[in-house]
Formats: sequence, structure tokens, C-alpha cells
Amino acid sequence: MKIKVSNIINDSIVDGPGIRLAVFTQGCTHNCKGCHNPQTHDISGGHPVDMEDIIEMVNKNPLLDGITITGGEPFLQSKELSSLAKEIKKLGLNVMVYTGYTWEELMRSYEVHESFLKEIDVLVDGRFMPELRSLDLKYRGSSNQRIIDVKKSLEFKIIKKFEL
Ligand code: SF4
Repeated sequence: MKIKVSNIINDSIVDGPGIRLAVFTQGCTHNCKGCHNPQTHDISGGHPVDMEDIIEMVNKNPLLDGITITGGEPFLQSKELSSLAKEIKKLGLNVMVYTGYTWEELMRSYEVHESFLKEIDVLVDGRFMPELRSLDLKYRGSSNQRIIDVKKSLEFKIIKKFEL
């Protein structure tokens, strides 16, 4: 299975807690003003990478705590990324995802994204809003974005914040 990516960064310490493999997916339609990754927007850009190659990168790095799937908009590739996340979880690592969609928007199309959501531990939701940007925010760009404990939020059907 192929995943369309813009870039993959090994040993990232800025894309979530601990040491992470950061997968920047290609394609985003949110057009947030002030986006830091405009090169990820073009749906026809980027390059396809075999899921097995990403898993091999993870296997070769014993220091990793987890992977972060960001973008771009990961939920444009829900099906492919649910397979990747499932394999990562089997390795005992955690999965963090950044999306431009809000939790409420994702819940409105839950059937489409269910298999991916069920493999995610931590979700940072919502578009980047430059007027709400602060350098004091950990792991998010603007204060409208929330760091969500996905397992608990799905279980209790209400947003539960992830405790960092
Ligand atoms: S969702 Fe992320 S990648 Fe897409 S435009 Fe907004 S900040 Fe940029």
C-alpha cells in the first residue's frame, strides 16, 4: 500500500512527546492563512512511499516513542493511514496525528474515518489560525487547536484532552 508524502523526518523532537518519526502527508484543502507547510497542499504533488518502507524506518530506530502523521491533511488518506497506524501500534509505539479538521467535523463523517481514528492515540485538531498563534503552546500552532485523547473521547463520546 502506498502513502503519498511530502517528507519524512526521523528523530523529530518537535512533533509530539519523545522521539518520533514524523510523516508529512501530501495534499491539503484547508488553506489556513500563515500555514507553515504550503508545499504539502498540492494534491498532485509529493511522492508515493510504500507503507513497508515507513515501517522499516521505524524498525531500524530503537529510540522512537511513536510516529506523528501530519501534513498536509492526513484524513485525505484515511484508509491508507489506518493500515500504517495499525502496524505501528503492533510494534508497541504510539500514534499522534495532526489534522486541519475539527473533532466535530470528523465525527460528522465518522463512518469514513472510523478505522483510522481507532488507531490514533493523540489528535491535534483544527485549522491553524495566525491570530491565535503563540510560541507558549506546546505541540500546536494556535490556541483553537486541541490536543485530544482519542481513545477516551471515542469511549465517552465527548472531547477528552490528552494530558501531556
Ligand atoms: S491544515 Fe495544516 S497543512 Fe493544511 S493549510 Fe492548515 S496548517 Fe497548512
